[in-house]
Amino acid sequence: MTKKIGWNFDNSYTQLPDVFYTLQKPKPVRAPKMAVFNTSLAERLGLDPDALQSENGVEQLAGNQIPDGASPLSQAYAGHQFGHFTMLGDGRAVLLGEQITPQGDRMDIQFKGPGRTPYSRGGDGRAALGPMLREYIISEAMHALGIPTTRSLAVVETGEAVYRETELPGAILTRVASSHLRVGTFQYAAGRDEIENLRALADYAIHRHYPEMEAQENKYVSFLQAVIDRQASLIAKWQLVGFIHGVMNTDNMTISGETIDYGPCAFMDTYDPATVFSSIDRQGRYAYGNQPYIGVWNLARFAESLLPLLHENMDEALEMANEALSSFAKLFQKNWHEGMKAKLGLLNEEPQDESLIGDLLTMMEKYHADYTNTFRALTLYKPEDTVLHEKDEFKQWYERWQERLGRQNEPRESSQQLMQQSNPAVIPRNHRVEEALDAAVEKGDYSVMEKLLKVLSDPYAHSTEQKEYCTVPDQTGKPYRTFCGT
Ligand code: AMP
Ligand code: MG
Ligand code: MG
Repeated sequence: MTKKIGWNFDNSYTQLPDVFYTLQKPKPVRAPKMAVFNTSLAERLGLDPDALQSENGVEQLAGNQIPDGASPLSQAYAGHQFGHFTMLGDGRAVLLGEQITPQGDRMDIQFKGPGRTPYSRGGDGRAALGPMLREYIISEAMHALGIPTTRSLAVVETGEAVYRETELPGAILTRVASSHLRVGTFQYAAGRDEIENLRALADYAIHRHYPEMEAQENKYVSFLQAVIDRQASLIAKWQLVGFIHGVMNTDNMTISGETIDYGPCAFMDTYDPATVFSSIDRQGRYAYGNQPYIGVWNLARFAESLLPLLHENMDEALEMANEALSSFAKLFQKNWHEGMKAKLGLLNEEPQDESLIGDLLTMMEKYHADYTNTFRALTLYKPEDTVLHEKDEFKQWYERWQERLGRQNEPRESSQQLMQQSNPAVIPRNHRVEEALDAAVEKGDYSVMEKLLKVLSDPYAHSTEQKEYCTVPDQTGKPYRTFCGT
């Protein structure tokens, strides 16, 4: 007898007006094989890990068999890509359905790379193994860092090739998200000029993500403000760990506040606000230091899309939108400042804290210090572990910081504990990720990746086994570039 997998689908997306999706089954693949599987996530979803890894389960995660209760579809959306408006949609994704978890959460189960859809435009609808493993590693690392994100349940190899610049092994990623509603989904509705569809979408999103607002007088303004709040908090968290998304197009910004779409993203090594990782981002639009600005630019596109719902009088609607948008800077700054204070173990507030933080970052930039390792050295009170320690200005800064810590009522241990919880010892550094992908894709050896995943699953442990993962890549090579997720 085969064990039950535990699917418990309830597909509310199919209740939306049909302009928002197309029913679409995944295209079967030749020889599916499990590459990597997330046991703890499966359990949280109420799924049986053994059953899901059985032959039958792998057939399902490859799209060869449709589970009972699933209603596969591809979503329609639009988006500004590098500033240009485009009609898009799931060109290589199929939503299997919404799994209701044992805790009662509603989670999208989506395949990435399941074959062509009506939104594929010129693409093949498929994904290559390397980029899907990369998304798996980085999204799970983000989750462990405490940053809201879509998650990765599994990657299966398809046994088929995909053709990019070269022939590559194909794969399907199972992505889990609290929803796949994007700023671009609202741009799609607004762009079609059908206010009833726009309203249906907004009501759906509010019901799904912000149900406490449903009874409010102007729930659409509250909704706009709530999305701004969550994105301000999310982007501050990215900045605090040195995460660079790489493709902050409006179709890659969620309404839920989860990080989505791990393409040419990366973590910064040496601190430099101008760091760009994506090879297709020639102008540096999505550079590290630009992310908050792009965030609010994207939110302005969201506000614009909601205008007809905010107020029937256009002047009033614009005023509401502007007021909400103008809160972003303050919210972002507050989240970031609080986060930076935690990284320095500051438990109270002093007027000079801003310059204490700013002066450290200025030195890090000037002397090309590693972002993560600088904060790690401070956390461990080992200034000798940073390249800054020979500089007089750093010595002065360090003394200033120690004195500042001394002007707190709480014991030193409280500060250090806060720093440990706020400064990861390990991040998915590019050279480690590439090493893991090379072993898996070139040699079929998943052990390097499994070991990396284990270390990344507890980034704040500051344990001895993590030490070898703290080394920075040698600086001899060219600047690192990730290529668009294919
Ligand atoms: P992204 O830059 O990853 O956000 O993708 C932008 C758009 O391109 C989305 O609509 C994707 O679904 C689509 N897309 C990306 N790769 C493919 C592919 N191989 N085949 C079809 N559509 C794709
Ligand atoms: Mg995308
Ligand atoms: Mg992508």
